Amino acid sequence: MTVLLGCIADDFTGGTDLAGMLVKAGMRTVQLIGVPDGPPPADVDAVVIALKSRTCPAGDAVAASLAALRWLREAGCRQFYFKYCSTFDSTPRGNIGPVAEALMQALGTDFTIACPAFPANGRTLYKGCLFVGDVPLSESGMRNHPLTPMTDANLVRVLQEQVERKVGLVDYATVSQGDAAIRARFSALREQGNGLAVVDALSNADLDAIGAACADMPLVTGGSGIALGLPRNFRRRGLLASNAVADALPQTGGLRAVVSGSCSPATQRQVEAMRASCPSFCIDPVRLARGEDVVAAALDWAAGRIARQPVLVYATAAPEAVRQVQAELGVEHAGNLVETALATIALGLVRAGVGRMIVAGGETSGAVVKALGVTGLRIGPEIDPGVPWTSTLHDDDTRPLALALKSGNFGSDDFFLKAWDKLQ
Ligand code: ADP
Repeated sequence: MTVLLGCIADDFTGGTDLAGMLVKAGMRTVQLIGVPDGPPPADVDAVVIALKSRTCPAGDAVAASLAALRWLREAGCRQFYFKYCSTFDSTPRGNIGPVAEALMQALGTDFTIACPAFPANGRTLYKGCLFVGDVPLSESGMRNHPLTPMTDANLVRVLQEQVERKVGLVDYATVSQGDAAIRARFSALREQGNGLAVVDALSNADLDAIGAACADMPLVTGGSGIALGLPRNFRRRGLLASNAVADALPQTGGLRAVVSGSCSPATQRQVEAMRASCPSFCIDPVRLARGEDVVAAALDWAAGRIARQPVLVYATAAPEAVRQVQAELGVEHAGNLVETALATIALGLVRAGVGRMIVAGGETSGAVVKALGVTGLRIGPEIDPGVPWTSTLHDDDTRPLALALKSGNFGSDDFFLKAWDKLQ
């Protein structure tokens, strides 16, 4: 069976978010880091190619997205999805509009939608205006975002500035009448010369109806919420099994380790909880800066302990300690030193027999994934909201590793202790 849904995400964590949604909706999903060289993995219903195209120049974002589309078409995908942030993060020059139009052109389609709504996370759309919680986007914290400040909540206007085609609106009066009414409105907008339509949504039921109305649309664009409604279309057509387990991972045994480079409050509590019952090794950035071989010391230390129980290697520190180190070494230098050390330790641990690993910290995860030569992740069972177990994919015959990448503020206090039980 070929891949059904091909997704292009404009950043890595956005890709993970979407992949997790699709798994929950019953599609076996892998997330690939950039456009791969080889063919898609077997037994996959949806592929998410994660790019880093949110804030790069629009031309680069378009080129990268078209390369991803080419690969997804070769993989046999029947429908394509362009995923961006639920706060429609974009610069005045794009990149959402230019990428959407380039994908439309490549697919030979003259109509698509834009719907970043994600009601469960407080992102709703009414009369084309995006709300974040109780306030319009332009009054939310997004107005001060360092890279993509959003100062207009009206997405019809925002998107129109980014595209050549005319942008219309499917407003709530239509959406609330269900998928047939939405479909009829799509046709009317298309006949009136619109190429894109912003679609209002206030609830998950709205997302379901919009998803059903998009069943025949070659390209859908939105946040991760709207993807909830798409798997059902494939199921209705008999293309997707209704009883399939979508989050099964290959069996992975091996030793267990946690590598933490996050200093976020949730991670600090998780480190404390694990330190109370498991061996732990603290990485001191100042020793790294002095050129001491802290990596070798950590790996030697782990070798004597890891056979019996999971070990923790962490640079996690309280805000005052981090500030002191940053004042001494510089923010960037300190960050790079720690990331490189933790990534090298992670690789050493895998070589020493670790088969199940948790990494805490967004940047830290990026460094570890790179050091391990991971090209993709098969998404497995969720440990806590937003953090699934995954199984690594590699371009060579490296054995898959069970890997959980936890962003700083995610997870309960006992995350590092309880996560292992979800792997069975
Ligand atoms: P989060 O997801 O919590 O933001 P990240 O891994 O993205 O975590 O970012 C944490 C950053 O802090 C990384 O660059 C990491 O190398 C750095 N760091 C970790 N521990 C320390 C420390 N003790 N002193 C200074 N910087 C640190």
